[in-house]
Amino acid sequence: MKDFFKGVRKHIGRLDAEKLREQYELVADELARSEKLIEILKDGVVRLAANGEVLQSNPAAKTLLGAEPADVLPDLGLPLGKASRREIAVTYPDARTLEIQTIPDAGETVVYLRDVTAEKARSEEELRAGATKAISDLAAGVAHEIGNPLNAIALALQLVKRDPTDTESIDTAIVQLKRLNDITRDFLNALRPRRPNLLPGSLAEPLKSCLATLKPQFEERRIAIALDIPAALPNVALDAEQMEQVFFNLLKNALEAMKDGGTVAIALDADDQDVSVTFRDTGLGMSAEQLAHLFEPYRTTKEKGTGLGLMISKRIVTEHGGSISAESAPGNGTAFTVTLPRLERRIRALK
Ligand code: ADP
Ligand code: MG
Repeated sequence: MKDFFKGVRKHIGRLDAEKLREQYELVADELARSEKLIEILKDGVVRLAANGEVLQSNPAAKTLLGAEPADVLPDLGLPLGKASRREIAVTYPDARTLEIQTIPDAGETVVYLRDVTAEKARSEEELRAGATKAISDLAAGVAHEIGNPLNAIALALQLVKRDPTDTESIDTAIVQLKRLNDITRDFLNALRPRRPNLLPGSLAEPLKSCLATLKPQFEERRIAIALDIPAALPNVALDAEQMEQVFFNLLKNALEAMKDGGTVAIALDADDQDVSVTFRDTGLGMSAEQLAHLFEPYRTTKEKGTGLGLMISKRIVTEHGGSISAESAPGNGTAFTVTLPRLERRIRALK
């Protein structure tokens, strides 16, 4: 088709009115055929103008959204002109999970909607199937990490045997034992999820605590943190320890995406409904293909990666009644946003 247009464009100066009409007909036919293709798709396709106005949409888009795209899309706050991917839960006409992708296209934005309800149900099963590989990968990693502390403990104990008053070696052994404990705890966390223990609190707390843990690593890599915490942030229902794990995973990924320094901008925000935190890095970004498979288990582009961090993070956020979304472009950094419902809203919704 591209070649056809190229040919016409090249010779257009030499075509007479009759020939032009002929070519015009061909283009019109071709357009109608493309449109028909989009019409019969089971997935939803919506084209948005630069200002967000709906230019075109297919019947599947309306069916999946349960309403006219022009009526509901503006409320979703999709990033215009940017690649992104997120999932939303819809309750009408029935309870389903929709995946929404935005694809930038010459100033416009193509929104691609897919029903992933069945896929999500399957993914837990897949997780178990893939777990065997993950366990051996993780076990290899853990075995490697366990080696050093074990050697250090053996050495420390030998020294204590020779000189029972050597308290320094005893301290070394204790520190290394704590490390072993941390390693095995992380390993188990990955494979054995626990339900969140939800308590009212601020997202700022686990965030600050996570930043304190990661500070040395950020400094070492010359990565700046720009933190924006509003003075009054509404509470959410959260398991601070699990939420800290989510932030840790996101920040660690941001860190790993930036080879030569950079910035992570962290913005906390709230509206009547939700509280959100966005992590925006200046790292290597992701392709549309990577975005399309984000949050799936065992997808990693790193030599020593597990591809479990985002999957675990998403599971935790979902169990908090929230959602996690990503926005990225190759070479242009990445932004992850975690959104949790406000506590007041939750109570109202439960009545
Ligand atoms: P892992 O970090 O072990 O690879 P994750 O689930 O944390 O597993 O991430 C999966 C993949 O998503 C990464 O391998 C990387 O390709 C991509 N990714 C995640 N966060 C970022 C980011 N901030 N910038 C670029 N790529 C990212
Ligand atoms: Mg990771």
